Amino acid sequence: MVCKKCGHALGSKDAICPNCGALMSREQLDIRKEMNKGKNPYLERIYNIKQKNKEYNNDDPTNTNNTAYAIFIVICILVLAIIIAAILLR
Ligand SMILES: [Zn+2]
Repeated sequence: MVCKKCGHALGSKDAICPNCGALMSREQLDIRKEMNKGKNPYLERIYNIKQKNKEYNNDDPTNTNNTAYAIFIVICILVLAIIIAAILLR
């Protein structure tokens, strides 16, 4: 078995990739159960790593910045549409 995320070779009992921390899908429900119990420090540590990755991927966690980003995307699409229309109607 290899990690779906990074391709790292895993042992048959590995629920979590030692290379990138990705959870193996077959084990995810069991891990969530353990997380709810809050009795497994190893899984809590992995969970914290995943949360940090999430924060890292989401550079601007505030709603204001997300809204500004959405407006930026809409403006880009409008500009593209105007350019395409200008080319087609030339
Ligand atoms: Zn991995």
